[in-house]
Amino acid sequence: MLNVPSQAFPAPGSQQRAASGGRSKVPLKQGRSLMDWIRLTKSGKDLTGLKGRLIEVTEEELSKHNKKDDCWVCIRGLVYNVSPYMEYHPGGEDELMRAAGSDGTDLFDQVHRWVNYESMLKECLVGRMAVKPVAIVKGNMFHQTSEMMNSFSIDHSSCSFQSSENHEKKLLNGILLKSKVPDLPAKEISPSYDWFQTDSLVTIVIYTKQKDMDSESVIVDCQDGCFRAEIIIKDYSYLLHSELSHEIQEDISVRVAEKTGKVEIVLKKKDNISWKYLGHPLENHNSFTEHREKGLYYRKCTLISKVDVTHDTKLYCLMLPPGTHLQVPIGQHVYLKQIVSGTELVKPYTPVLESLHSDSQETQHPHNKYVYVMIKIYHTGLFSPHFDRLQIGDCVSLSSPEGNFKKSQLQDLEELFLLAAGTGFTPMVKILNFALTNITSLRKVKLMFFNKTEGDILWRNQLEQLADKERRFEVEFILSEPTCEWTGKRGRISLPLLSEFIKRSLEDSRVLICICGPAPFTEQGIRLLKDLNFSQEEVHSFTA
Ligand code: FAD
Ligand code: NAD
Repeated sequence: MLNVPSQAFPAPGSQQRAASGGRSKVPLKQGRSLMDWIRLTKSGKDLTGLKGRLIEVTEEELSKHNKKDDCWVCIRGLVYNVSPYMEYHPGGEDELMRAAGSDGTDLFDQVHRWVNYESMLKECLVGRMAVKPVAIVKGNMFHQTSEMMNSFSIDHSSCSFQSSENHEKKLLNGILLKSKVPDLPAKEISPSYDWFQTDSLVTIVIYTKQKDMDSESVIVDCQDGCFRAEIIIKDYSYLLHSELSHEIQEDISVRVAEKTGKVEIVLKKKDNISWKYLGHPLENHNSFTEHREKGLYYRKCTLISKVDVTHDTKLYCLMLPPGTHLQVPIGQHVYLKQIVSGTELVKPYTPVLESLHSDSQETQHPHNKYVYVMIKIYHTGLFSPHFDRLQIGDCVSLSSPEGNFKKSQLQDLEELFLLAAGTGFTPMVKILNFALTNITSLRKVKLMFFNKTEGDILWRNQLEQLADKERRFEVEFILSEPTCEWTGKRGRISLPLLSEFIKRSLEDSRVLICICGPAPFTEQGIRLLKDLNFSQEEVHSFTA
C-alpha cells in the first residue's frame, strides 16, 4: 500500500502533481488526487464507454469527440477518451481541451514528456488511429554482407535514406516520425553507419561528421538480442535500432574519435561464426530527428549501494546493465521509474559523483557503468519512500539523460557562482568538479548553500575540505531554521544576501550563476539576479 493520504496529495509543487517551468497548475477538487485516479482506474468502471472494445479511429471520427464530456485525444497514434480524467488533470481541464479531438502528441511532449500516460490512461484507451499507407526507409546495410576487417570499405551512399515502393509498409499515424531526415541547418549533416567483423568481434561504425564529439553523446543499449545506439548531436539524435542476427556477449565497448566524430561500438560475438548481415531494423532505425521527438528510453539498473548523507538523504549507486554505455552529462538529469501499486511512477533526479573528491578519470567505478543519485526521502512523498525500500540487488528503470545545461556555458569562464537550496545542490556537484578540474580560466567558484538546519546540509564536511584545499573555492551555508547556536548566515534568498555574495571582481569578468532548489527559491533568485543587473545569459536555472 502507498503511505500517502489521499486528499491533499500530491503536495503543491510536487513533481507528481505538475511539472514546473511556468506551466499553470490548478487546484484539484477534493477526491481528485492522483491516488483517487488510480483507485478509479482499478474500480472496473467502463471509462471509455466502449465496454472494453478497442476500435480503429479515423481522423474524422477523432475530430467529432471534442467536447469536455466527450473528449478524445490521440497521443503517438493511440486514442484516449480523456473525459473521465478531466477533473484529475493537474494542469486543468482547459489544458486538456487544447488537444480535444486531435493529435495531442506535440502538446504533450512540450509540457510533460516524461509522464507515463500509457500507464495513467490505460483504462481510457479507445483504440488506434486507422492505418494509412506511408513509405518507409530501406533497411540498407542491415541486409548486406559485410567484408572482413582487412577489406573494409565504406559506401556512404548505401547508408543514406531511400524510400522504396517495395518497402512500403503500413504504419500507424503518429508513430512514424514526421520526417526521417529533418530540415536541418546547412551545417547539420545526417550521420551514416557501417559495420565490419572479425572472427570474434562485430564493430559498428557511425560517422557523425561532427567535431568535438565525446563519449557522453553516445548512448548504447544491447539487451535481449536488441541493439540500440543513440548519438546526440546538439538538439538532434541519430538512432540505430535493430534486432541482431546473432547472439553476442553481454559487455560492449565504445570508442569515440573526438576530432573526426567517428564512433565505434564493439560487440563480442557469442560464437565465432561469420555474420551474413547485422540484423533486422526495428522502430525508428537509422533516423535523425530532433531529440525531443524521441520518447524516453529506459534500461533496468541494479541498486548496488545505499549510504546515508544526512538524516533524510541518501546516496544510491545504480549499476547499468553490462550491455549499456551511458554517461550522464554535467547539469543533466535522468528519470527513475518504478511500479507502485501497479502504476508506473516517474520522477527526475540529477546524478552526482561518488564524492566531491572523485577524480573524473577514476576507473574503479567508471562513469559509463555506474550512476550515483542523492535522494531526499519525503515520508509522505509518493516516489522517494518507495525507492528507499529497494534492497541491494533490486532493479529500477533509469532513462537516458535530459536537460538543457551545456558544458560550453563554462568555457572561458572566470567566475562561477552556485546558488543551491536543499537537494538543488545535486546539479552543482558535477559542475563544481568539472569547473575546478577543467576550466583553466576560472579564478573563483562560490557556492551559496541554503538549508533549513545544520543537519540538512549535504556533504558539509566534503565542501569544507574542498574549500580548505582549493583556494579558488569558497562555500557559505545559510540556514532558514537555525538553532540559536548557529553563528553563520541566516534567512532565505534575499537581495542583501545575494548582493554581498555575488560580486564581479572585475567589471568585464565572464560570469555564470547557476541556481537550483524549490521552485519559489529559484524563481525569486532569478528575479533578484535581474535586479542586480546580471544578464539572462549569465544565469542558468535548473527546472524540470
Ligand atoms: P512528492 O509526492 O512529490 O512530495 C513532495 C513533497 O510534498 C514533500 O515535502 C512531501 O512531504 C510533501 N507531501 C507529500 N504528500 C503530502 C500530503 N498529502 N500533504 C502535504 N504534503 C505532502 N530530488 C532529489 O532528492 N535529488 C535529486 O537529485 C533531484 N533531482 C531533480 C531534478 C529535477 C530536474 C527535478 C525537477 C526534481 C529533482 N528532484 C530531486 C526532486 C524529485 O524529482 C522529486 O520531486 C522528489 O524526490 C519528491 O518526490 P516524491 O514523489 O517522493 O514526493
Ligand atoms: P527544503 O524544503 O529543505 O528547503 C531548502 C531551502 O530552500 C530552505 O532552507 C530555504 O532557504 C529555501 N526555500 C524553501 N522554500 C522556499 C521558498 N518558498 N522561498 C524561498 N526559499 C525557499 O528543500 P528540499 O526539500 O531539499 O527541496 C529541494 C527542491 O529542489 C525540490 O523542490 C526539488 O524538486 C528541487 N530540485 C530541482 C532540481 C532541478 O530542477 N534540476 C534538482 C534537484 C532538486
